Amino acid sequence: MKPRYSIILSSSALAILVVVQAYNILITFETKKEQFDTNYGMMVRQALYGFDSQFPISQSDSLMLYLDNYGETMIYQNPDAFSFGFADTTNAKIISVYSNILQTYRNPDSYLKAYLENADADPEFKSGYYISELELLNFDRSIPIYKDTTNNIPSGLKNALLVDTYDIEGNYFKIRYTYFVDFTHKTSIIYRDMIITLALAVFTILIVALVFTLTVRNMIKLKRLSDMKTDFINNMTHELKTPLSTIAVASTTLSDENVPKNHEKVRQISQLIHKQNKHLSELIDRILDVSIWEKDQVRLKKKALNIHEFISEKVKLFEMENHAKPLKIHTEFHIKSEIVHLDEIHFTTVLNNLLGNAVKYSTENPCIKVDVASDKNLTLSISDNGIGMSKEEQKHIFDKFYRVGKGDFKTVKGLGLGLYYVKRIVDAHEGNIELHSVPGKGSCFTITIP
Ligand code: ADP
Repeated sequence: MKPRYSIILSSSALAILVVVQAYNILITFETKKEQFDTNYGMMVRQALYGFDSQFPISQSDSLMLYLDNYGETMIYQNPDAFSFGFADTTNAKIISVYSNILQTYRNPDSYLKAYLENADADPEFKSGYYISELELLNFDRSIPIYKDTTNNIPSGLKNALLVDTYDIEGNYFKIRYTYFVDFTHKTSIIYRDMIITLALAVFTILIVALVFTLTVRNMIKLKRLSDMKTDFINNMTHELKTPLSTIAVASTTLSDENVPKNHEKVRQISQLIHKQNKHLSELIDRILDVSIWEKDQVRLKKKALNIHEFISEKVKLFEMENHAKPLKIHTEFHIKSEIVHLDEIHFTTVLNNLLGNAVKYSTENPCIKVDVASDKNLTLSISDNGIGMSKEEQKHIFDKFYRVGKGDFKTVKGLGLGLYYVKRIVDAHEGNIELHSVPGKGSCFTITIP
């Protein structure tokens, strides 16, 4: 399956998992809420049953007295109300007065609180009365004040336990009301009950998300590696083909009857074959080197070198070998200690690779500056006025097989191994390599060896 499809598939699976877990949590919350309502509802009803039996409404003289007195006053003050009813504002006031009387003279709160504490339940709650029907009466005549026909619980009481509904009738009133209890810590008690479910859900999601991220990262890494390997094989085929075809052409020329008589021509052709052969074996060596490093650490044969002599000689040799382009190498030395310990062969390759890149990735006239400083550390920087690299490219520049600009191996030859080699050798010397580069301006590689 293509990586893109597996990523889409796994992200969908992850999204589904999150939705399923969220749904599970929601269901568990609802179940726990029902359990809470059942348990606490049972306790409250039992407490209220006790309260009602201890203080029956019918014997609650003060309550009946106050309810009746207020009804009577309202009726005698407004004799017209039997014909026309009360204004809406008066109705609202009457309801609020009745509610207050109930709160004051029929309040089971402290009884309920004691009962809950006794039962080891949470005793923090708010309570109240919801009046769903009220009429004022005088003998067989009545004034309707309020009647809730919808039977809808008022929105403020959605979470409250509607404990019991009472109907009472006196001489001047008839009322139906519900006592409700709203537990202050209901939600936190429910969440506390769900803690294991919640923790498991979060844990599962986190683990799956982590595995998912790691897998995607690995997949992207593998894809990049595989792309780079494909590029490498293309580059290598191309690099190997050029000297091979030159050798093939040269040998065909040699087989021409006339050529062997021309000694100068034979010399030129054999030199060409020799040069191409050398190039070929260098290429093969480089590839072999890398595959050997896969298994082994780089083994260094360090020796004491005069840094001034060493660098000057290698730079001069490089200039001689690369005279095709008008090349300018400016070398500067700031030397306090002359002798440094390096692996001469590997370090020569490092120098050649960096100088070679400065030439390869340059505009028309490469201008290279080599700066050598040595005191406690050896610092070697090679800067050029070449094409430079973007920040993103700089991140991968030392990776094996990495080359800037996919597939453009035809314009500038290379295998993407040069800087990988440089980094490995610098690491083996326990040193450090840094790159500072600006696209279009140039690059500067700085090696520090302790
Ligand atoms: P190669 O040169 O064989 O492609 P290297 O490992 O030496 O491989 O370099 C990797 C890539 O880094 C090159 O393909 C090139 O794009 C970029 N690069 C290296 N040196 C320079 C430089 N001095 N200026 C600009 N780009 C460079």
